Amino acid sequence: MGHRRSPNLPAMTNSLLSDARAILDDVVALRRRLHRQPELGNDLPKTREAVLEALEGLPLDITLHETTSGIAAVLNGAGDGPTVLLRGDMDGLPLTEDTGLDFASETGDTMHACGHDLHTAMLFGAAKLLSGRRDQLNGKVVFMFQPGEEGYAGAKFMLDEGLLDTTGDTPAAGFAIHVTSMYAAGEVHIRHGSLLASADNLTVTVHGSGGHASAPHKALDPIPIAAEIILATQVAITRSIDVFDPGVVTFAKLTAGTTNNIIPPTAELDGTIRAVSEETRASIHELVERVATNVAAAHGATATVVFKQGYPVSINDSEIVDSVKDMAGRVLGEDAVTEMPAPIMGAEDWSYVMQKIPGAMVFLGACPADLEPETAPANHSNLVRFDEDAMASGVALYSGFVIDRLGG
Ligand SMILES: [Zn+2]
Ligand SMILES: [Zn+2]
Repeated sequence: MGHRRSPNLPAMTNSLLSDARAILDDVVALRRRLHRQPELGNDLPKTREAVLEALEGLPLDITLHETTSGIAAVLNGAGDGPTVLLRGDMDGLPLTEDTGLDFASETGDTMHACGHDLHTAMLFGAAKLLSGRRDQLNGKVVFMFQPGEEGYAGAKFMLDEGLLDTTGDTPAAGFAIHVTSMYAAGEVHIRHGSLLASADNLTVTVHGSGGHASAPHKALDPIPIAAEIILATQVAITRSIDVFDPGVVTFAKLTAGTTNNIIPPTAELDGTIRAVSEETRASIHELVERVATNVAAAHGATATVVFKQGYPVSINDSEIVDSVKDMAGRVLGEDAVTEMPAPIMGAEDWSYVMQKIPGAMVFLGACPADLEPETAPANHSNLVRFDEDAMASGVALYSGFVIDRLGG
């Protein structure tokens, strides 16, 4: 789907930030309500209720998903045109908040430590702002309120439940924002191509045979074989993966044995595989399997390798990145926009949506004014705080993305 820009768009986008600031109180109110009651995974009843209450009165067609607490809300523009999709995730994390904020989590063991409460509130803000500009829109907007980003593949559940068929017309473009305390408030950081890594888990089990630790020749000791697999894997990675298309294998857990005088029958390695291209991701899977089984075979043992596929690589569409950079420059000022030099090795389930439709994700800086981005507590920290004014920039970005495609 080509990106069309009509001459009056700058005029339509240059007031977005002030329009977003005008509704910031409502956005902050929803954010704080969510922040007080973080929920985990794909079942977020209180969160869904808060979002639905916020959306009440807006001219939206709402679909409540059944396999998860996902919500797909549709705004029909006055004229005909394509469908575009905006996404905000809604789930929290299992940790105890220690920020001392007066709207801190009231649950004791869950926290909105990744800023998903801001995402949800910004998406609501965009729905409200764009509802007021419905007459200027030719086409439809799907607001995707998604649960379960933190390891539960909520986006995939929503796709499987027909998210992309919500309007009857597959979205031509999708856009997501992630806030971070590692950039100054209001800064937009974006990247052509890979933005975030794939994240797969693997378990290698070495099968030997047990015996007395004093007589290893009568047993088949799996422990040195497991150690050799760890080292051989690291060598293989450095010798066969292009350093400019990197990958990481970390064995983070090694389990074997019960005491000092018994050779155990098995040893188990658990780890994670990260890559920033699907090609390298596939190569690493092949490499680990080959190294593990053949190192074991060299010692007369066997190894079984089990992969648990996690989120795919998040790959931004180049044309959409170009248009988002241009739009963000118009809406927030050119100084606010930076191209990231390298991807981040974290992972996102927004990648599942970007496998189906052209899309992009940006990072929005939300470091509080009293902290420095370099040293501020990071996303997922029990101490992380976010600048709430940055949400006005987020609302404006979401809205600008839509107006660029459906405006005028
Ligand atoms: Zn997170
Ligand atoms: Zn997140």
